[in-house]
Order: sequence, then C-alpha cells, then structure tokens
Amino acid sequence: MTGSGQDSGLQRLAGMADLLPLESKRWVAAEAIVRATMRQYGFGEIRCPIMEPTELFERGTGTATDIVQKEMYTFTDRGDRSVTLRPEGTPSVVRAFLEESLGAKRPSWKLFYIGPMFRAERPQQGRLRQFHQFGAELIGPAAPEADVELIALGDAMLRNLDVPVPRLVINSIGDKQARADHDAALRDYLTAPAAFARLCADCRRRTQTNPLRVFDCKNEQCQEVIAAAPMIDRFLTDEDRHHFDAVRAGLDRLRIGYEIDSRLVRGLDYYTRTTFEFKAAGLGAQDAVCGGGRYDGLVEVLGGPPTPAVGFAAGFERILAVSKLPVDEDRLDVFVCALGDAAFELTSQILAALRQLGLSADRDFLRRGLKAQMKEADRLRARSVLIIGDDEIAKRRFTLRRMDKAEQREIDAEPSQWTVDEFRK
Ligand code: ATP
Ligand code: MG
Repeated sequence: MTGSGQDSGLQRLAGMADLLPLESKRWVAAEAIVRATMRQYGFGEIRCPIMEPTELFERGTGTATDIVQKEMYTFTDRGDRSVTLRPEGTPSVVRAFLEESLGAKRPSWKLFYIGPMFRAERPQQGRLRQFHQFGAELIGPAAPEADVELIALGDAMLRNLDVPVPRLVINSIGDKQARADHDAALRDYLTAPAAFARLCADCRRRTQTNPLRVFDCKNEQCQEVIAAAPMIDRFLTDEDRHHFDAVRAGLDRLRIGYEIDSRLVRGLDYYTRTTFEFKAAGLGAQDAVCGGGRYDGLVEVLGGPPTPAVGFAAGFERILAVSKLPVDEDRLDVFVCALGDAAFELTSQILAALRQLGLSADRDFLRRGLKAQMKEADRLRARSVLIIGDDEIAKRRFTLRRMDKAEQREIDAEPSQWTVDEFRK
C-alpha cells in the first residue's frame, strides 16, 4: 500500500510491503487453500530457517545464476560468518533432507513450504525484494510420473486459488550429456563476433559461466540473438526424449493442456530434463506465477548421494494480484455499547461471557457516546448490539438490538441465561 500518511521519517525498505488486516485476511485464506491442496496431494509442510549459510545458495542455487551474482542479501553476522536471507526455498529443503537423513528413512519424500524470500532486485510491478512463495518438492523418484504429479499439483493449486486461465509451458533441457553438448554448441554460437556484439553485458558474462541462461534474458536484443541459436531439442539423448514423451503422455491423460517452448530453461543450475512454468493472464511482463522442474543434480551438489527430485515454486504476490478469490469482510457477532461509568466497567466481563459462548465480541474503549458507538458497531458489521446503561444495570435487563433483523428486545442481565442463537442466529 502507498498513501499519503503521516510521515515519521521512517519508511519501509523499497520492494517490501505492509499487509493491513483486510489484505492479510485474503492472504491467510489463500494460504489455507495452498495447505489444503498440498495435503490432498500428500505433501507435508517443512519450515526451514529464513537465514542460511551463504555457501548453501552458492552451491545449491549456483554461482552462475543472477540470484547468487547480484540478488542476495548477504552479510557477515556477529560471529564473522557469511549468512544470507534465503532467495529461494529449494536449497534449504534439500539441506534439511540431508541434515535430517530423510533419505535413509524413506526413499521418497513429498515436502512443501510457504514463506518469505528475499532478492535484491529492481522493484516494480510483480517484483519485490521481500516476496512470498509456496513450493513443493518430490525428492527420490526419477519416474516421469513424478514430474506429472508436480505439474498436476501446480495446475490444481492455481485453479483452487482462482487464477484466471493459467497457461502451462513445458520443455526438456536434457540430462548432463545433452546439457554439456548444448552448452558447447551454444557457446560457439554466442561467442561468434556478430552474435557476441549484440549481447548485453550480463549475457556476455553468461557465455562463459552458463550460456543456457541467455535464453532467460529479458533484453530484447538478446532474445533476437537467441532466436537463431541451436536449440536443446537437437541434443536430447534417447533417455531424455523418452522421459519427456512420458511427461507429455501423462499430462495428456490428465487432460492438462500445455505448450512446448524450447526456450524455457529456468534460471537455476541444478535443473535437468523437465522444466515448466505457469503463466497467468493480466500480469503484463511479470506473468510467470509458478515455475519448476526436475533437479536431479542438486542433492549431490549439496553433498548427498545421487538423488532425483522434482519441484516448483510459486509467487504469492503475483497469484493474488490476479486471483478472483473473494474477500469476505469479517462480521462481528456482538458489539457491547456501554453508556455511563458503571456500564463501561462492567463491559469487560460481559465481553468475557460472550466470548466464552464462542461469539466474537467487541466494545468501545474511548468512552464515546451512543451515536459514535453505534457507528463503530456498523463499521464492524455487528449482527447484534447489546446496550447497557445505568437503567439497564438497575433493572438487571439489557437491551439487545439485532442489527441484521431490525429487532430489539430485552434480555436478562445474567450471562448464564444467554444462548448463542439469540445473538447470532
Ligand atoms: P523471473 O523470471 O520472473 O525473475 P524467476 O525465474 O526468478 O522469475 P523463480 O526463482 O522460479 O523465479 O521463482 C518462482 C516464482 O516466484 C516466479 O514464477 C514468480 O511468480 C515469483 N517471483 C520470483 N521473483 C519474484 C520477485 N522478485 N517478486 C515477486 N515474485 C517473484
Ligand atoms: Mg528472477
């Protein structure tokens, strides 16, 4: 939210947001849908630290990625250790998988996470410095059915979150051999003088570190250069092809529509074979809401045994920007309107009794008059207003006004006589 509020001179950092109650309520509702859908697909929640040793991302995300080269919040802590606010979730999940010896307990793990990620990017629409992701990881199985399971989960998730017509794009970038062959051909192509001259500074660097990532560049001229580059599909091995065919057949069986884009490479070094991305309508340039793929190399890179895995991560902000999920404002059950000092004092006990019954109940703390209190009750969309004043206390009868039914009657002042229905039904 931006606004012309009072300026205390202190402002939040660029690319970070405050969520006020109405908005956070929408977030909580969306998170509940994410958790319910994850549970339906058999994924258990893992909560990892937000801060990790820098080396985890250098190794796990890869030093050749933009994330590690220029987007991490890295600093030296008081013990002289280099620590980093996590820019993505997968390396932590795999670190925990290894640290907790999960692979020795079961050959296959389904884990999901939700939480904030940090990247020092240029803030713009759909691109923040603290943003939020949920992600799922299926660690262990090499079968293409596992890729299909993850894509099906992403598809169900976006439907449950009411994201309008997400488009699924898939590709295969092959396994080690295909990637190595493709890298070599790509490097030759990109470093030829005519091509090299047209690349941006980042991509020139990428020709040395990770030429595949030039496909990912957002620069138009780089996209023109890459349009005529050797494509990965020429280099896929028979095994890669079988895997990709099986993923496609699995999606077809589930009637999940997709497009193949041989330029979809995903930005991270540890991906192998399947890559996929869901794009949503109505987001402009930042239209990727969920991206993932197979990362058979990562567990080994982080010191574990060779272990295949597939996963995705989805961006909460971008999803909520297009989601049609309704926001239903809270309704208060009972507002207690106190008139006079005795009533003002008694109100906290009345509230306690109402809350004990399971009702939501609130009051005014400012000793305001009847009119202001009724206005507050309206703002809270109170179903009932319980009016207590000196007269009511003396008579031991309170006035109960049902705002939702336009009725008013007296009730006993003794809370043990009250039922939920008289306030809310
Ligand atoms: P992009 O190409 O948009 O930079 P990415 O490849 O860096 O995306 P991933 O690391 O795959 O993104 O993250 C998965 C999802 O997280 C993205 O599809 C997007 O929805 C979301 N996301 C990534 N970076 C940001 C950011 N800075 N702000 C908001 N959402 C983000
Ligand atoms: Mg990015």
